Amino acid sequence: MLVNGTLYVISAPSGAGKSSLIKAYLQQFAEQAAVSVSHTTRAPRPGEENAKHYHFVEQDAFKRLIDQDAFFEWAEVFGNYYGTSKAAIDALLAQGKDVFLDIDWQGARQVKKQRADAKTVFIAPPSQAELLSRLQNRGQDSEAVIKQRMAEAQSEISHYQEFDYIVVNDDFDTALADLAAILRANRCLQARQSKKYQALFSDLLAKA
Ligand code: 5GP
Repeated sequence: MLVNGTLYVISAPSGAGKSSLIKAYLQQFAEQAAVSVSHTTRAPRPGEENAKHYHFVEQDAFKRLIDQDAFFEWAEVFGNYYGTSKAAIDALLAQGKDVFLDIDWQGARQVKKQRADAKTVFIAPPSQAELLSRLQNRGQDSEAVIKQRMAEAQSEISHYQEFDYIVVNDDFDTALADLAAILRANRCLQARQSKKYQALFSDLLAKA
């Protein structure tokens, strides 16, 4: 029996390696999971593609979507709007895929309120010095923006205890294995397996 996937909120301060981890997980387990593409009003960074990294929209269009109740959750981050469309997520979950929401702690809270069965994962960098160096090495942001992002990072990190799971991204492969283990263990939960293997258990329990 096809069982709905699980919704995962993955949060981290910018530079913790969240996007790389999600990308690597999806490459390895393409059949089992997908990432929800958010809407945003911020400008695309070099190399970012519309509909792949984000749906890039004007502020007016974003506000219309809010009015239409099209978002599962939305937030204002760094002066821009970000939101997750309901339709996209539900379609993927119904296909049995686990869905990653790459959103911040505000979004994580909203999701938990609406879906108690959603799991939240916080990705932490191994140290403050390493976080700063990762932000600088991206070469995408000015010094002023990096400074602002460091302050925002600490505010994001201060919410770490609200999450179900924590993955520290020091060694990338270890962090990826931790993330994979979280999803794998959740797929083996009794309630989920009982639904998926209904026919099996009927067979196993049939009179011999
Ligand atoms: P960035 O501009 O660096 O891509 O993202 C900035 C922040 O916005 C990140 O912390 C990211 O997790 C958050 N964000 C991206 N998409 C969404 C979304 O759909 N909803 C919420 N609440 N936050 C989001």
